[in-house]
Amino acid sequence: MIDFRSDTVTKPTPGMLAFMQAAPVGDDVFGEDPSINSLEKITAAMFGKEAGLFCPSGTMTNQIAIKTHTQAGDEVICDELSHIYQYEGGGIAFNSGCSVKLLQGDRGRLTPELILAGINAEDVHKPPTSLVSLENTVNRGGGSCYDFSTFEAIKKVTDQHKLALHLDGARIFNAIVHKGEAPLNYGSVFDSLSICLSKGLGAPVGSVLVGSTDFIKKARRWRKVFGGGMRQAGFLAAAGIYALDHHIYRLAEDHTKALHLRDALLKKDFVQEVLEVETNIVIANLHGKYTPSSLLSKLGESGILAYAISPTQIRFVLHLDITDDQLAKTIETINKI
Ligand SMILES: *Cc1c(COP(=O)(O)O)cnc(C)c1O
Repeated sequence: MIDFRSDTVTKPTPGMLAFMQAAPVGDDVFGEDPSINSLEKITAAMFGKEAGLFCPSGTMTNQIAIKTHTQAGDEVICDELSHIYQYEGGGIAFNSGCSVKLLQGDRGRLTPELILAGINAEDVHKPPTSLVSLENTVNRGGGSCYDFSTFEAIKKVTDQHKLALHLDGARIFNAIVHKGEAPLNYGSVFDSLSICLSKGLGAPVGSVLVGSTDFIKKARRWRKVFGGGMRQAGFLAAAGIYALDHHIYRLAEDHTKALHLRDALLKKDFVQEVLEVETNIVIANLHGKYTPSSLLSKLGESGILAYAISPTQIRFVLHLDITDDQLAKTIETINKI
């Protein structure tokens, strides 16, 4: 099988497995797992934040961040494509009791003007806006990336209105590598960041939430309430440490492969459009002879898996388990369809 369904499907490399096996561990609910403590410290320092919190999933790091930044009855601003709204099971309402102001950005990217217009005036009829959440890269935007100057302009708006600013950075390293950015700069803009280790970085499990010491102290309590306090999970944290050491800069290879795949798709008359490819995600709008589901069946005959992300769109995600040979075979198959 050649699996383009998601960058979550990667298996640990032999080097990662060996590193995991050798990890020192302890009970993390007691704060005694040296590998988790070190992953949290490394990640926080990387992004210029004081503290980190290791969680089982990116959904949990996002949901804990929202819970920690808001009170029930508040409103959260995000783009209509954002993962926190589309793919977290209504958790903003369920876990935090907040309403959502959905804005229409450009492939999931908001502007300071849109956000300013989305902030509720102080009015007894309106929920108080307390949090803005951005995503980088935007999954449903086809891996689109923000310009860092937009973050700085948005930060001015959220500061003026005393709103918290969170980043869903599930694929932040794809953006950092694509734009040649320094992770450290993110810490001066965002109050909290959620970073996935189990996407392009290739760890089997885990995300880290980073923020101030006080924020993470509160978040750690919510992690316990959400059932995310794990015990000797240092074996998993070690995979994250290994991934941060070995798998960041190789993401550029996935981005190059994504461009080759896009070129093959653009030659087909059933491909109406491919969203601009910036990182490791390729989303094609189909028309004519194939729908996403019939194209998936056709590709399946050659052992190629992708994902129907909407009734008209198919998504391919590049990752470290897609080899050059597998990509070549995929392009050959597409050429023949
Ligand atoms: C994958 C992902 C998450 C977190 O997902 P989990 O499967 O819960 O780890 C959050 N945001 C975005 C944009 C994602 O792609």
